[in-house]
Formats: sequence, C-alpha cells, structure tokens
Amino acid sequence: MSAFGGFWITLRTIFRRSFTQRYPQRGRELVTAPRYHGRHQLNRWPDGLEKCVGCELCAWACPADAIYIEAAANDDSERYSPGERYARVYQINYARCIFCGLCIEACPTRALTMTNEFKLADTSRAALRYDKDDLLAALSVGMVAPPHERLLGLDEQEYFAGLPPTGEPDKRIPSMDGRRPVETADARESRTKRSRGKGGE
Ligand code: SF4
Ligand code: SF4
Repeated sequence: MSAFGGFWITLRTIFRRSFTQRYPQRGRELVTAPRYHGRHQLNRWPDGLEKCVGCELCAWACPADAIYIEAAANDDSERYSPGERYARVYQINYARCIFCGLCIEACPTRALTMTNEFKLADTSRAALRYDKDDLLAALSVGMVAPPHERLLGLDEQEYFAGLPPTGEPDKRIPSMDGRRPVETADARESRTKRSRGKGGE
C-alpha cells in the first residue's frame, strides 16, 4: 500500500461513527446483546414457588467462590419450592463474581439464570453482596408468594409432568382446585403494587 493509501484509511476512519461510548450516559446507553451475562436471577414456577432446591451445585461450580447457600427442608405446612429443600440463604458476592456463567450451566432446575442488567457498580463491599430477596424474580400475574402448597399438582410427579420439553418458559396456569391458598402479606403487598402500577400506566 502506498503512503497515500495509508493516509486515506486514517482520514476515512476519523469521520466514521464511533462504536464505543462514554459511561454513564444517563439513560442513553446502548442495549446489551440478548446473551449478555449480567446480574443473576432466581426464577419461580408459574405458581410462585421457587425453582431453587438448595442443591449448592452452582456454588461448587463457581471458580470465584462467589456464591453462599444455606439450604433448609420444606414441609407441607411451610413450602418454598416443590422439592425436598429450598435455599433458606442465597447470596452472590459481586465483588468476586467474574460473570463467567458456570453457575447457571450447573443449575439442574434452571432456577438460576442471568439477566442483562449490568449497572452493578457500588461504593461499598457490603452493597455488592446480593441476598436472596435481591435476586428472586418478582411475582407475576397468577403467582402467589411462598410459602404455600404446590398449585400445579399435588405430588412432585404431577407437578413436574407438565414441564415443557422445549426449554421454553413454563406458562401453565396454577390449579387452585378449590384449595385456594391463604394469601400472605407479602403476596398481597406485591399484588397491590402491581395493580397500582397498571393503574398508573
Ligand atoms: S458467573 Fe461465574 S463467578 Fe459469577 S457467581 Fe456464577 S460461576 Fe461464580
Ligand atoms: S440455583 Fe440451581 S444449582 Fe444453585 S442451589 Fe439453586 S437449584 Fe441448586
């Protein structure tokens, strides 16, 4: 390439639109790619029970030792997940996490996934420790906040039998069967917030 050719490339590049951007841009950041690994989320079944069964596989898979779990047993009077156990304590330390995604690969129930949320910077180490309440997915329409019985079937087999084999989100509607659970204060508060949100739209 001649010297003139080299200068021409430089000149052309100077006026090309930049792909990089300053951060933060106060709400004008570009949307991340759909597969971007951001903040984690603990998912729920369509009846509101937690998918996490406290097996700790995610914690063992984590190369940065960023996940801490204490599991506890469910019983029919106080049930948080459809399985035998649930995560009584679930913490992720974002001062350690390197967003590699090995934990979500290890999770056998798809309880743990990663969202596109990337604005996690904070001013203290303590604020970078996310507890279960920070990570749990919000209740959506039709869900009831645990603890409550299984509303997608009375036993585990019935509960899991309708699981879509496609890997698509489970859209079953919880069957109340005349056994409508007592709504907890948390569920009531979350339902009120949702209806306020809809009224304000
Ligand atoms: S994304 Fe990687 S580093 Fe972060 S918690 Fe999961 S396994 Fe650990
Ligand atoms: S998030 Fe998944 S892998 Fe981790 S404890 Fe819960 S069920 Fe097990």
